[in-house]
Amino acid sequence: MVHLDSRKVLPPPGTPSPVQPAAADVAWDGAAHLPPHAALPMDGDLPGTADPPRPALRHAETPTPLPPRILVIDDNVSVLAFFRQILAGDDSESDQALDALEAEVFGAGEAAPPAPPRFQVDLAQSGEAGCEQVRQARQEDRPYAVAFVDMRMPGGWDGLETIEALWRADPQLQVVICTAYSDHSWDAITARLGRTDRLFFLRKPFERIEVLQFACALADKCSLQREREARLNDLEQQIAERTRYLQTALMDREAYERELYHLATHDALTGLPNRNQLDQRLAQSIGQADCTGQRLALLFLDLDRFKYINDSLGHKAGDELLKLVAARLEAAVRKTDTIARLGGDEFVIVISHLDHIEDADNVARAVRATLAQPFEVEGRELRVSASIGISVYPEDGEDAETLLKHADAAMYRAKSGDANGIQFFAREMACQALERVDLESALCHALQAGQFELHYQPQVNLGSGKVVGLEALVRWRRPGFGLVPPNGFIPLAEETGLIIGIGEWVLRTACQQTREWHALGYPELSVAVNVSARQFRQSDLPQTIHTILAETGLAARHLELELTESAIMERGEAVAQALNEIKALGVMLALDDFGTGYSSLSYLKRFPFDIVKIDQSFIRDVIDDVDDASLTQAIIAMARSLRLRTIAEGVETEEQLGFLTANRCDEIQGYFFSRPLPADGMSALLQASKHMPPGGSRRR
Ligand code: C2E
Ligand code: MG
Ligand code: MG
Repeated sequence: MVHLDSRKVLPPPGTPSPVQPAAADVAWDGAAHLPPHAALPMDGDLPGTADPPRPALRHAETPTPLPPRILVIDDNVSVLAFFRQILAGDDSESDQALDALEAEVFGAGEAAPPAPPRFQVDLAQSGEAGCEQVRQARQEDRPYAVAFVDMRMPGGWDGLETIEALWRADPQLQVVICTAYSDHSWDAITARLGRTDRLFFLRKPFERIEVLQFACALADKCSLQREREARLNDLEQQIAERTRYLQTALMDREAYERELYHLATHDALTGLPNRNQLDQRLAQSIGQADCTGQRLALLFLDLDRFKYINDSLGHKAGDELLKLVAARLEAAVRKTDTIARLGGDEFVIVISHLDHIEDADNVARAVRATLAQPFEVEGRELRVSASIGISVYPEDGEDAETLLKHADAAMYRAKSGDANGIQFFAREMACQALERVDLESALCHALQAGQFELHYQPQVNLGSGKVVGLEALVRWRRPGFGLVPPNGFIPLAEETGLIIGIGEWVLRTACQQTREWHALGYPELSVAVNVSARQFRQSDLPQTIHTILAETGLAARHLELELTESAIMERGEAVAQALNEIKALGVMLALDDFGTGYSSLSYLKRFPFDIVKIDQSFIRDVIDDVDDASLTQAIIAMARSLRLRTIAEGVETEEQLGFLTANRCDEIQGYFFSRPLPADGMSALLQASKHMPPGGSRRR
């Protein structure tokens, strides 16, 4: 047992010394606890000392794991050397020096302790130097696990000052106070340094094993702490990453939900609010109007003849036009007003905070004016007009649905009156709207109830004066309403799709009836059946015709299909194919109402028509109007040059007949010869052999 308070001064620079205050890089079996990122220790000199020749360092076999670092601060070099010998197991010195040291520290004859675990030991002769080393070690990210600190170091900081400075430099550092004096009581020390589990006491003279126990236990504790910290850091990192991931996922989901909500509440074509969104906004606006006592107006807007544009130019152009209309509407109203698309060509504008009812009229006028400017779609200039119906809250309805219904009814009135007009709702319109609803539901049942009938109008050949064909014209015997003409229900039937069933019935009935007339002795009679655009869009129309011809036994050449230009303008190639298929059956094709649509010659050349029916609007004034006369002449001449038969519709007078005969029109149809008749009326006409003089009338 030796007292280690003998003061020795370090040798001058370059002087060989048995104890070199330098770091020793050595193996340690507890190092598995070290964090993987711990840096390799550098060879270091005792700070504040000269540059003595270094002992040859024994490097560990592998650079990792690294031994824990221990700092010993003592002004006594013998003590420093002693610590170093115990902790670093430095065998680079001569046996003699070691023996002497051991004898000095432990006394001669004591048994050598077992091979100690080893550490990287650094030495410092003053508190200031030690503190600097601690700071440096932290900077290098290789902090010390333990510092052994002498309490009495004359000429510099004492032990307590040193420890305070050490903890400022590294709050995690574990400190073992080494003192031989009883003047430092534990209570006094903890009173100054505070109670902590990083402070320990080692009273001199101490055993070698005590030093080793402290070093091993505290190094282990330190490495366990670091491992725990590393794990915690790792966990924190994982949590942070997971949180980031979840946040991103949440944001993605929110964006997805926003997108879904947008899709559910907006019209896909124009991006405007749809019916759902309109209902919500209307409800809000009504709530606001109740609070402020102001009115709100609902404008129901429907484009005029949009169906015609759609049918003639195709859906793509129609869609393009709707988008442009939507953009113009948005530009025409205030940001606070709502514009929604209900579907098709129907838009609704909600004008909230309405001070005067006339303001709604002004907005409607502005909207019409902006739509009156031409649109450019697919290189064509299109002109569009709109009919607008207006309902006002609270006068015209107390809820969204009623307001919409009434604005819709007003719009219908606007459309049927002055097209491009504006109409405020009036009570009687509600009745008309109801009528339309009734009409639709009655029409649904009409076919099953057998309420349709066909009338036939003769077509007379001007050369022979004889009836050569009949046009089948449908009528609806609606209970309580009498005989309804086609214009009273065909447009609605087209809109609702009921025309498909009605059209098939007309075709079958007309074929059956004609077959009967053939059997009755009029075998050359042909029948013309009108086919609407919607029927024509059906892909199986050729098949339906084929089946009906087979069922009724009518020869295909006795059937003529009448199509209007608007029915065939859409989708050129598909139309050509369908027409060719129908033609291939042997059925004749007539272009109806020629002159009212685009009247394009190219249609006549492109599609396999046999007959051109000159629209009755030309025939009506053909005697008095020079333009109508020359147009009719031109149509007949053109049809003749294309080898097409001409039929003039709506011939009512002998003068008209004279004009058509003179201009070599092939056939006529009109009240002049006969009104459309029910089947038995037509049978009677045929039996009576009603005819015109051959060669028609020569009167002009
Ligand atoms: P449309 O095919 O041009 O038929 C000729 C129309 O002119 C018929 O009217 C006929 O009654 C009328 N008309 C005939 N001669 C004269 C005349 O001398 N003067 C005047 N002012 N009118 C005359 P209707 O029967 O009212 O049919 C109107 C339209 O309804 C038809 O025009 C046709 O487009 C359509 N239609 C009739 N039946 C059917 C059908 O079964 N299916 C389809 N899709 N449409 C039909
Ligand atoms: Mg017709
Ligand atoms: Mg016609």
